Amino acid sequence: MGADLRVVGGTLATAQGTIEAGFAVEDGTIVAIGDEQHLPNAEHTLDVAGNMVLPGVVDPHVHINGFNSIDTYETGTAAAARGGVTTVINFAWQTWTGERERDADGSVWADSGSLLDAIDRQRESASEAYVDYGLHATVTAEDRTVFDEFEAVVEAGVPSFKFFTVYDVGVSNGFLRLAFERLADLDAVAVLHTEDDSVCQALTAERRRTDRGHPTDYPGSRPDYAEAMALSDAVSLATETDCKYYGIHTTSRAAVDELATAREDGTRVRGETCPHFTTLTEDAYAEQGTMALQSPPLRTADDVEAMFESLRDGTLDVVSTDHVASTQAEKTVENWWDCPFGVNSLQTALPVFHDEAINRRGLPYSFLVRVLSRNPAQTFGLPQKGRLAVGADADFVVFDPSETYEISATDNASLADYSIYDGREVTGKVRETYLRGRLVADDTGVVGSPRGEYLARDVPTWDPQGGMA
Ligand SMILES: [Zn+2]
Repeated sequence: MGADLRVVGGTLATAQGTIEAGFAVEDGTIVAIGDEQHLPNAEHTLDVAGNMVLPGVVDPHVHINGFNSIDTYETGTAAAARGGVTTVINFAWQTWTGERERDADGSVWADSGSLLDAIDRQRESASEAYVDYGLHATVTAEDRTVFDEFEAVVEAGVPSFKFFTVYDVGVSNGFLRLAFERLADLDAVAVLHTEDDSVCQALTAERRRTDRGHPTDYPGSRPDYAEAMALSDAVSLATETDCKYYGIHTTSRAAVDELATAREDGTRVRGETCPHFTTLTEDAYAEQGTMALQSPPLRTADDVEAMFESLRDGTLDVVSTDHVASTQAEKTVENWWDCPFGVNSLQTALPVFHDEAINRRGLPYSFLVRVLSRNPAQTFGLPQKGRLAVGADADFVVFDPSETYEISATDNASLADYSIYDGREVTGKVRETYLRGRLVADDTGVVGSPRGEYLARDVPTWDPQGGMA
């Protein structure tokens, strides 16, 4: 009996280092790794000489089919496949009415809602996914009856729960305290967007009152200390209740200092940042205007350094995209406060972050694999994802580390018709992306029909010390 596919001639990147080896795939799973002559025979052989082979990127923070994103599963996951991303974790919004924020006259939130229903609605919308997807349950109303669903949500393969401390979906510290206790009983993960709501609201109102609508006036309305204040509160509550804590889109030195302090206690605290917080500063608001507007804001050059220091020392574990798709027309507004938050980067995150981390900063491929693939898979209960190893899903990227090209938004698979990386020259290009051993995208676009599947995730096991570096 032979395998289905042999991948030979390339350099494999793992969380430990790089090796000159090939591997064999059977029924979508990696069944052998080693020298070409020791691999089992296979029906097909793919020679990837001159290229790196990376595990598919696992992106645990994307907005597809949401109130804030025009991407459907088809277009959002096409962008993912083009960008070497083979797993995404999207959000199921408890009280979302299904309206788009920019189109709706009133609120896009109902007064109450069921997490299980929201999960079902997302799964029903996802038949055209090109890559595999999981979901986070997103609690968007301060209504304790939602706690009754937590156990069934975990059993449905959704062991992570998202909360906001800001916006009209934000909840109070008291509510978080009660929720975290229940999540701790289930060993589930609390996923937090932390900014101090009253500080952000007051500073936003002051800018509106004094007519400071230029995009360069935006970052001061959501300052680093507001991020750190709310993070400190939420992580304290997680520590008290022994609940796993995952902080999303960390932007600032002030915030990672709070995370580092919490981690020193041996508590179960992890965090992510995003490619834009590692490659851009608030100067982008002068250069790109509202196109670069997202929340929390881009910060200073020192904050960018803090992101890399934290990713290297293990204070932060993951780089996610926080992909949000809007049109250029929607983003083009007179005053920044009328601009929808969010930027799209599912298609560009790997080449942009690779160029920054490997080419500009001299970091090893093992670092790239850890923060883009292994750590997010391990953090969110996906043992079969994020690694090139026997028994893992054969999700991989054929990546040419030497080709230099210019990123252009005209090539977007996402419905977003702009890119904050438009015109950026990077070295290193996604050649082909494979999902469970089958080609899903190459240089020209997605290939074949959508085969992405829903991932019912395990409750993840976290090392109590947190360190995965
Ligand atoms: Zn987000």
